[in-house]
Amino acid sequence: MQMSLEFGARSEIAEIWSCLRSHFGELEEQPRLEPVEQLVLSLISSRTRDAVSRRAYLRLIATFSKLQNVADASAETIETTIGDVNHPDRKARQLRDALRAVAKTCPDFDLHFLLEMPVEESLRWLQALKGVGPKIAASILNFSTLDRKVFVADTHVLRVLYRLGFLGRRSDAYDAHCLILGAMEDCSAEELAQFHGYLKGLGQTFCQDRSMRCVDCPVSHLCFRNRKGSDRRARR
Ligand code: SF4
Repeated sequence: MQMSLEFGARSEIAEIWSCLRSHFGELEEQPRLEPVEQLVLSLISSRTRDAVSRRAYLRLIATFSKLQNVADASAETIETTIGDVNHPDRKARQLRDALRAVAKTCPDFDLHFLLEMPVEESLRWLQALKGVGPKIAASILNFSTLDRKVFVADTHVLRVLYRLGFLGRRSDAYDAHCLILGAMEDCSAEELAQFHGYLKGLGQTFCQDRSMRCVDCPVSHLCFRNRKGSDRRARR
């Protein structure tokens, strides 16, 4: 579902995108994984630095060679393999259970059947898997070879969109998806992935959880925090 946005909000989101692209430059397009591979990577990535989770993912592939072997393994063995990500014990159980559930529907682990469903239905299907919430489901649809028009919002992106004034404090990844799709309806799946990368970059540099560098921020002139008291827009 797309959010119906006023022209002003749409043009501000477009301007934020333009400012961030000027500041950070063109982002390198990431190689796309198969959907089930993206599921594995996204599941072990939460609250973990990208470099650490990518190394853990590669170790997992090298150790088990086939996803069926991960599904058949004990949670303890998986935990040992992905050991340096955050919460490896919980993630190991979720990973094993999610892959077992996938194997029941598609023994070849091919999730391309999701392309035949409307986006909302495929998000629901993915979120029925253990450990998969709105953000991980969105990342599988957008970052993988499924290449679908879904916006991915992690904690950095949600924080930045809240501070900029586009989302409420309790908004989730699906709210962010509806917002950005409403503002950027004509863009491609890859452009949505790029916008995710820019907002995440902003959240990791200028607009961190516990510190903000608003004076230097490339979008400070568009930020709700700098316009308190104006009637610019209400947070949702
Ligand atoms: S101006 Fe400050 S609060 Fe607003 S996005 Fe930039 S760093 Fe975050």
